[in-house]
Amino acid sequence: MKTIASELAYFLRGRVVKNIKYLVYYCIFLAGMIFLYAVLFRYFMWHLEGREFSLIAGIYWSITVMTTLGFGDITFHSDPGYIFAAVVTVSGVVFLLIILPFTLVSLFLAPWIEYRLSHRPEVELPPETSGHVLIFGVDSVTRNLIRRLKIRQIPFAVVTADANEGLNLEDSGVKVVVGSPTDPEVLQGVRVSEARYLIANLSDSENVNLCLTARSLCETPIVALVSEAEHGDLLHLAGANQVIPLHKILGNYLATRATTKGAMAHIIDSFGKLVIAEIPVHGTPFSGLSLSESLIRQHTGLAVIGLWERGNLTLPTADTLLKDDALMVLAGTREQLESLEKLTGEQADEDLIFILGHGRVGCAAASFLDRKPVPFILVDRQENPYCEEHIPIYGDATVRHLLKKSGIDKARGLIVTTNDDNTNIFLTLASRHAQSHIRIVARATADENVAQLYAAGADFVVSSASVGGSILLNIIESKTSVFLTEGINIFRRSIPAVLVGKSIASSNIREKTGCSIVALESHGEADPVVVPSPETVLKKDDALILIGSPMQEEVFSKFYPKNPKN
Ligand code: ADP
Ligand code: ZN
Repeated sequence: MKTIASELAYFLRGRVVKNIKYLVYYCIFLAGMIFLYAVLFRYFMWHLEGREFSLIAGIYWSITVMTTLGFGDITFHSDPGYIFAAVVTVSGVVFLLIILPFTLVSLFLAPWIEYRLSHRPEVELPPETSGHVLIFGVDSVTRNLIRRLKIRQIPFAVVTADANEGLNLEDSGVKVVVGSPTDPEVLQGVRVSEARYLIANLSDSENVNLCLTARSLCETPIVALVSEAEHGDLLHLAGANQVIPLHKILGNYLATRATTKGAMAHIIDSFGKLVIAEIPVHGTPFSGLSLSESLIRQHTGLAVIGLWERGNLTLPTADTLLKDDALMVLAGTREQLESLEKLTGEQADEDLIFILGHGRVGCAAASFLDRKPVPFILVDRQENPYCEEHIPIYGDATVRHLLKKSGIDKARGLIVTTNDDNTNIFLTLASRHAQSHIRIVARATADENVAQLYAAGADFVVSSASVGGSILLNIIESKTSVFLTEGINIFRRSIPAVLVGKSIASSNIREKTGCSIVALESHGEADPVVVPSPETVLKKDDALILIGSPMQEEVFSKFYPKNPKN
């Protein structure tokens, strides 16, 4: 069944669709020819031999003669008639028996064979392969990782047991090896012992098997994404070096962004001693102040390098207003961050949070709020069999009067956590419409729905694909950071050759690429200079740490291609 589906999928691809068009034109031409012969047949029969036939009889005669079947039930009895019949037979042989099969072969069979030969998935990697990342299990998270690996030019390969999935991935330019992920021979074929990292993103039980198999062969570090956080220990036992309970991380993250009690910073990246973190403005004493009035740099030493508002990153100036619903992106040291948290931790606020959806993410958010403690109400239409702690209100969260009856009008924050993006968009829009001041944080499963959630009125959106992708990339790049907020990329680059000797002001990096310089790592200096002055001259062995959207990072990479040493 799968084979038929894959062949069908092949036939729906661009080139074949075009070929089908040519075939249809040819069939129309043949039909026209048969029709013409039928009309001529009737004409000749009547004028040459005085016999009358219907058009259907004419079509029947033309087809039997053209296909050389010639039943002989209707025949001419005159020389011109014989000549006409001979012409029809010869043209039938040429157009139906020679050109048609030839067309079918050249338009369909040959491209299909060519496609199959050129797209035969690999069963192993070339023997010289090393330093690659091996990815087992493709979903929105690993697709996001693949995009990041491509931008960073880190070699990788996907291993899948599903040949059809392999072909589809290969079509999108991904290196694929088809084989069972738990077969030692397959693992040897993908040079697991030479790999830089192994990403296990199968089901928890398959991941355990994969870890055990890989461990029996080599010491390559393994990162496993775990579906149920409590299975983490088993994965460690099986040999995983790092286990990522993505749903729990997402739940915690959403909870930190929904409560207004004591804002907490989230480290999103780090470069040596320099950490980049984000923290909501609400819950801090800076809400409503301009950046210069906030005195953040004077009191803590931290630089505010970006403001993140409903999905848009802006680069602040001294006069920029710190709005309550924005997130600040900060650069500095861990100690400086702690001093900021001390300032914000003193803020206490009355809070009530509604959590819509009590799956793994909703349950983790609830546990986080429990620990703070912040009062919350969970709503779900069904029981969560893995949770013994929380008692939700049962019902459909899209039914507004159920939420009203449960007291949503008193809530300050709302966490939308179902794993269906459409439901989340619906719930966000309905809640924003009903309560313009409530703080809404929402989970997206696919990256492409993040924008819709912001458009529906969410204050903060985080997609599991992007969080998972950036956690994995940070581990692969040996960073200690947690993860990046959707849409903000912070990256390190050596000074491009064309900029050596230029000052930051004259480099025009921001104008050309939209990226902004967060810090400068000077050769021989232990600590990076956070937000260096515009007069600073860029030197050959220095490195820049930049901030920008993923698109701006791509523009930077195009403008200043990495040299192999970077
Ligand atoms: P995850 O475990 O990744 O968080 P789940 O699908 O297990 O994802 O959890 C989503 C939860 O949201 C489920 O428990 C489901 O019952 C709940 N849910 C989905 N839609 C609604 C809805 N309209 N109203 C209430 N609960 C919902
Ligand atoms: Zn729970």
